[in-house]
Amino acid sequence: MTTSSTPSVLLIGASRGLGYALAETMLQRGYQVVATGRQHSTARLEALATRYPTTLRVQRVDITVPEQVSALHQRLLGCEFDMLFVNAGVKNNDGETIADVSTDEFIRVMVTNALSPLRVIEAFKDNVIPSGTIAVMSSGQGSLTNNTNGNYEVYRGSKAALNMLMRSFAARHQEDGRTLLLMAPGWVRTDMGGPEARLSIDESIPNLLNTMEAWQGRTGLHYLDYLGRVVPW
Ligand code: NDP
Repeated sequence: MTTSSTPSVLLIGASRGLGYALAETMLQRGYQVVATGRQHSTARLEALATRYPTTLRVQRVDITVPEQVSALHQRLLGCEFDMLFVNAGVKNNDGETIADVSTDEFIRVMVTNALSPLRVIEAFKDNVIPSGTIAVMSSGQGSLTNNTNGNYEVYRGSKAALNMLMRSFAARHQEDGRTLLLMAPGWVRTDMGGPEARLSIDESIPNLLNTMEAWQGRTGLHYLDYLGRVVPW
């Protein structure tokens, strides 16, 4: 799926919010996009594919189900991408702390935000060209340095775990030429970010994509915000 003139991307978790906007922005910029939703959530992507019939292919995967990740890998066998971007993520209820979160909810957030993106990356890393990019949606909330108020602690913990797992992945692939990115989109008005969030999707996503394009080819792991500023670990 890759040529030097039309970059190709496998975008995981693009049914709505930031992922959908990323798919749409990439298509506007001429990318070849394989974008995924879950079984029940591909309607918007399928509507988008009617506008981009030759450049958008819609697939389904729940990243927390290893059998579905393997099945997607089988369906995309032989496909090469310039970029893999894992956007899918969840948060727990606002205001819910370690004191009141259930064990099941804690596990759901950790498995979705930390374990599952890395499983997707392990499964698809060889589908990314040697000079390509593997990116995952982190958050400024995953920064240990920036955690001065302790709020959103379950979500913060999951994104900090994601960052650490990416750091281990990077350490295991030091000889690899691929660019590894942990992206922080800012606080954005989506279902997750809520109506009070500081940024519109249009203020975040085109800039976030500009940043990823600017960092393309810079080997190693980088933790960046949507404006290209380095986020402290
Ligand atoms: P939304 O809640 O609007 O969208 C979440 C996306 O993740 C949906 O496409 C959803 O699919 C998908 N998803 C959730 N669980 C799974 C799963 N198990 N398998 C596959 N896909 C799944 O959130 P945002 O768009 O706001 O967030 C996108 C990413 O950005 C997340 O990783 C989030 O943590 C991160 N982020 C968001 C910020 C914000 O302010 N909005 C700030 C910092 C980071 P479905 O429709 O099927 O549920």
